[in-house]
Amino acid sequence: MHPPRQLSLPAATAPWQRTAAGANLLGPAGQLGVTIFEEMTTLAARTGAINLGQGFPDEDGPAEIKAAAMAAIESGANQYAPGKGLPELREAVAAHQARFYGLTPDPLTEVIVTTGATEAIAAALLAFVGPGDEVLTFEPFYDSYGAVIGLAGATHTTAPLISPDFLPDMAALEAAFTDRTRVVLLNNPHNPTGAVFPRQVLQRVVELAVKFDCLIITDEVYEHLTFGASHLPVATLPGAAERTITISSAGKTFSFTGWKIGWLTGPEQLVAAVRTVKQFLTYSSGTPFQAAIATGLALPDEFFQGISATLQKKRDILSDGLRAAGFDVFTPQGTYFVNVDTAPLGIADAVDLARRLPALVGVAAIPVPVFCHPEGAARTRSLLRFAFCKKVEVLEEAAARLATLTGKL
Ligand code: PMP
Ligand code: GLN
Repeated sequence: MHPPRQLSLPAATAPWQRTAAGANLLGPAGQLGVTIFEEMTTLAARTGAINLGQGFPDEDGPAEIKAAAMAAIESGANQYAPGKGLPELREAVAAHQARFYGLTPDPLTEVIVTTGATEAIAAALLAFVGPGDEVLTFEPFYDSYGAVIGLAGATHTTAPLISPDFLPDMAALEAAFTDRTRVVLLNNPHNPTGAVFPRQVLQRVVELAVKFDCLIITDEVYEHLTFGASHLPVATLPGAAERTITISSAGKTFSFTGWKIGWLTGPEQLVAAVRTVKQFLTYSSGTPFQAAIATGLALPDEFFQGISATLQKKRDILSDGLRAAGFDVFTPQGTYFVNVDTAPLGIADAVDLARRLPALVGVAAIPVPVFCHPEGAARTRSLLRFAFCKKVEVLEEAAARLATLTGKL
């Protein structure tokens, strides 16, 4: 048997690490092609640390959804689903949009099922942008946005979110729109900051999108995970529907992040363009899981209210622990994540701290600068993101461990 070939890795900027389109697919923290989530989860596993880095729950979602997946497998739903998704899931997505938001996408032409929100984001961007186009996002931004904008050969422009509320600097937002802005890619509730944008901010984005005649792609995977104000889909705002593609996913709502069932909705012509790209990315995936998520989307309102109430309690437990450990805590209005400023502990570099934290106290987190371009990274240099989608006892243990940090720095 041949031993595995030893690769000697060249410097991080080697040309073959870049795509033809110019996207640098190094992990944001600088190692070869591994995302920050993968890096921190691997580090947590190696050190036995509590993983409050990558956002995934440590408990499964509802038993009836799992039973529906098993029943689907048993009943033979094991071959390719149609490219646009199982009809029952497209109908369930449309019914969900109507029940919660009064939106009425046609399940035949205005809904497609994707391999998680990740594929929906990729297919939508690849369908609409290329070299010469600008895609505008808030900053910090979810990591796949920058990578896919680069893969498409487009230019990524950003408007900063400003702590402590992580609302946009409106003057900077307006100045960031140009005649080349083809897409404004929103994320609300917002990862990594946990911000939920108020109506006036979203409405201003829509007005600017109309003025500059650009498309809105809105990533709303945390739509059911808000603490207080209920979720306001961009597509419901005046002037938005005709130019908006809305993306969501089962992972966060139902605690099945590994199933990778996502979807998007929007006007027929836009959805058809995304579908054209999507069929050459994965064609389709997860047939029995699609069937099961159709069951999930039809769960009663109490289920959806329950998940945000449970998560809000977890947010508060971890936030109290982080405050007691000496961090400045930015209370999130939605998502799985709470951000802290580590500066009160005398820390200047959150990337360095995130790499040391598992060994120091046995907790892993994600540094916020990795969700930024260099200027934004400088602004968020001392910020760390912690996930609170974990069992209460796990959060309490993490808080106890973090309380020992000051003595170890
Ligand atoms: N968008 C955001 C803002 C996310 O946080 C995530 C991670 N859940 C995704 C997209 C990817 O979702 P999925 O796992 O469904 O691909
Ligand atoms: N969305 C998850 C997070 O922000 C990570 C998903 C992934 O690993 N790509 O933590």
